[in-house]
Amino acid sequence: MNHTGTLAIHGGEKTKNTPFGTGKRFGIEEAKELLEALEQNTLFYHFGNKVKKFLSDFNEMYGIPYSVATSSGTAAIHVALGAAGVTVGDEVITSPITDQGTVIGILYQNAIPVFADLDLYSYNLNPESIESRITPRTKAIVVVHLAGNPCDMDAIMAIAHKYKLKVIEDCAQAYLTEYKGKLVGTFGDYGCFSTNDFKHISTGDGGIVTVNSGQEEDYYRTHAFADKNYKRMGTDLNRAPSSLAPNYRMTELQGAVGIAQLKKLHNLCERRNQLGSAMNLGLQDLPALSTMQIPADSKCTYWFYMFRLNEEKLTCSREQFCTALSAEGITNRMGYIPDVVYMQPMFQHKQAYLDSHFPFDLSEVNYERGSCPQAEAILQTAVQVPINEFFTDQDIEETITAIRKVILYYQK
Ligand SMILES: *Cc1c(COP(=O)(O)O)cnc(C)c1O
Repeated sequence: MNHTGTLAIHGGEKTKNTPFGTGKRFGIEEAKELLEALEQNTLFYHFGNKVKKFLSDFNEMYGIPYSVATSSGTAAIHVALGAAGVTVGDEVITSPITDQGTVIGILYQNAIPVFADLDLYSYNLNPESIESRITPRTKAIVVVHLAGNPCDMDAIMAIAHKYKLKVIEDCAQAYLTEYKGKLVGTFGDYGCFSTNDFKHISTGDGGIVTVNSGQEEDYYRTHAFADKNYKRMGTDLNRAPSSLAPNYRMTELQGAVGIAQLKKLHNLCERRNQLGSAMNLGLQDLPALSTMQIPADSKCTYWFYMFRLNEEKLTCSREQFCTALSAEGITNRMGYIPDVVYMQPMFQHKQAYLDSHFPFDLSEVNYERGSCPQAEAILQTAVQVPINEFFTDQDIEETITAIRKVILYYQK
């Protein structure tokens, strides 16, 4: 596999000359469920059976008693925060490398996001950094299992117990991801999933919140927070909310598609795990590059694959590397998001709402450049390549060959 030919950007032979594998995500199974949903003559989740079936299938797959459907992954996280009792002036510790959906609900609860630093090799929250950011205002931790790689849940749960903090797992990129043999999304108080069109499975948009306490009261509270705080379950049925909650309901159409999509989830995650593991194995001996570090006895389901360049061991910049890799026929991009979340204008100006600094002005938190140095270093050195269940073995072999070819050419 140690290709050292002339690089394609220098006129050499391109490594990959066939298109990456593609396939159809939706088929007759989804169509059949959708038709049944319409034939119910209602698309309201509480009257129909599709969202209910989607959730009961999900619960069975995850071995949990309760979950709640939502309109998006962002909504799922907001619902979990609401159910966890996160409220005005609370601080919530989370990751600075994530989707915007992780922080939206925190700010809508008028709570303050506090960013902890990450591990350089797993790209996930560093438990010691989490502990260092705890203040008397801290109410919860939102962990993000980035790219389907599990966070260090033993250490994180120990900190949560020690300081009596709620734990919400953002599993939007982490379907069927296992930490030491147990599925992520079942460790914290709540686990949040997204079924937007770019995730492992899609219902167009949608989300799920797992309720891990196993307590009926907790389930009812979580359910109500996704539905205007209307109490539709239990003995005390009423539509006179005692506090504010949004309408984040999932429709029967989404639930119908979800039922069919869930049936494909296991195989799809197995395949992504295989392809990502092959990448990790195929690149692990290159000193100019760092592969993704997966915790011991754990399983990553690779929503994408991301490695880092050790630029001090290379004669090229990351941009030159990525250009050379593209010329070899391998789709790739620098980093994941353009910069750490706290560098966004909203955080730099401490202004989430027009003409107001609330709720930031309730807290001492600062969002200075350099406050999470490892997270910043990850985004400055990372290269992302897509992983998809439709990729062939040849696609992954050629991706590995091309990365090796470019690295070996530029390494010192
Ligand atoms: C996709 C994603 C979300 C938000 O999900 P939506 O369904 O798009 O609202 C939140 N967190 C992470 C890590 C995500 O990847």
